[in-house]
Amino acid sequence: MAYIEVRHVTREFRSGTQTTVANRDLSFEVERGNVVTILGPSGAGKSTLLNILGGMDTPTSGEVLIDGTDIAKFSTKQLTTYRRQAVGFVFQFYNLISNLTARENVELSSQITQDARDVSETLELVGLSQRAQNFPAQLSGGEQQRVAIARAVAKKPKLLLCDEPTGALDYKTGKQVLRVIQDAAQQTQTTVIIVTHNSAIAQMGDLVIRINDAQIQSVTPNAHPTPLD
Ligand code: ADP
Ligand code: ADP
Repeated sequence: MAYIEVRHVTREFRSGTQTTVANRDLSFEVERGNVVTILGPSGAGKSTLLNILGGMDTPTSGEVLIDGTDIAKFSTKQLTTYRRQAVGFVFQFYNLISNLTARENVELSSQITQDARDVSETLELVGLSQRAQNFPAQLSGGEQQRVAIARAVAKKPKLLLCDEPTGALDYKTGKQVLRVIQDAAQQTQTTVIIVTHNSAIAQMGDLVIRINDAQIQSVTPNAHPTPLD
């Protein structure tokens, strides 16, 4: 059984007489441990889909099976538990706490769960052992994003959701950061979803899902996931 099964997911937003369909009849499957990239222009519906997968929003209709459980049927309380226990987030602008060191930023998230991965091990996983005592302002953009990745994987999420994780980085640094995400996913059997509007970055995925105008245009398995140069 696939780790994620999205079946006929539609998300409409209504305000007054206006209805916006942000996701229209999306269906796809993701195997455990895969890195999936979701590619599409601004307004295509990528964040809406990511929010649904992360338990921050629920679809108007359709099923979202995570490891066989339909989170679309979850109550608000169940969704909160799901987010805390199963999901890690990486954002475009790192969201590190500026007066805490790299290590302390990672510790912050790993304290949340009992099942946390060791902080030193996690910093090593992203290649930042030497920078553990540095504050965010002393780190480059790529290093800050690696701290954010360490913070997200320290809580041992089953699902790692990344919203434009390379959006604030130059292309070369972005590729390195994606490599770190790939390695971390592989070593920890985490399933990763990366939203991007950059088609070169999207080639890092084991599976590339293109969305446009709220609909899936293509779902393409990638035999040799590598970034384009
Ligand atoms: P993307 O992440 O690809 O830029 P979004 O998922 O953010 O796209 O948005 C898809 C469409 O849904 C857009 O037309 C957007 O304006 C609309 N939308 C997203 N969230 C809301 C909301 N909370 N209320 C109303 N419309 C929304
Ligand atoms: P968009 O690009 O459509 O404006 P964002 O990328 O800003 O959306 O946010 C995507 C989702 O992640 C939203 O549900 C938002 O609430 C959440 N989010 C964004 N930034 C943070 C953050 N720093 N901490 C927690 N949640 C966040």
